[in-house]
Amino acid sequence: MRLEIHDGARAAEIPLAGSGIPWRARLSLHAAGHMGRETEERRENRTRFFRSVGVESGRVFGVTQVHGRDVLEVDGRTPDDCASVQADGLVSDGLDAVLSVTVADCLPIMLFAPGKDGRAIVHSGWKGTGIVARAVGELSGRYGIAPGAVDAVIGPGIGSCCYEVDRERYERFTAEFGPGGSLARDGTWRLDLRAANVMLLESIGIRSVTVVDNCTCCEHEFGSYRRDGRDRFHNMIVLFGAF
Ligand SMILES: [Zn+2]
Repeated sequence: MRLEIHDGARAAEIPLAGSGIPWRARLSLHAAGHMGRETEERRENRTRFFRSVGVESGRVFGVTQVHGRDVLEVDGRTPDDCASVQADGLVSDGLDAVLSVTVADCLPIMLFAPGKDGRAIVHSGWKGTGIVARAVGELSGRYGIAPGAVDAVIGPGIGSCCYEVDRERYERFTAEFGPGGSLARDGTWRLDLRAANVMLLESIGIRSVTVVDNCTCCEHEFGSYRRDGRDRFHNMIVLFGAF
């Protein structure tokens, strides 16, 4: 699936397949600015974006992302409390909570099941690949949602077109996830994070996986760490919930 984005757009809808779900997923784009929490300017970008989508800031839950594989249940906590927890995924079965992750090449992945309130979002880069399986386990363990009932949507991230890595990282990734999630081609080593996650999700036996094919590094409408570098990149935010 491709997201069609017009010039100057500040946000994009990530379509969530599946009848009977109240959820939507909305992604901020490069033009909306950096969506970190570190500076006043970035916090203002967030507030402006939340307002544009009609979501009160007090409903938005995020964590301190560390490229790990931990998943936090947010119910019973406040957004401020969650913001200081180091994790890379969130689960909830409360209708009011809007789950969020920030991304700039890493994949945002949404998990949900028709007729169920339990849902999850994860931030999955190369180091954290595998977190999606943890999140499926949380949905099952906490809310009784069998993997076979779960639909996954993998949002935009860096494609293998742009994700050249060094040999060591390639070998480490291939050793853990097999050859399908990495490529050695023309003397280069590349990772395919989407393919690795699709394989993981299929091996768990979830119901469906939908992949957004846009490459955040190729397409300038998106925020990209790889393209823009540490000092200039914009973190995008994905909001996932009923709003
Ligand atoms: Zn690319």
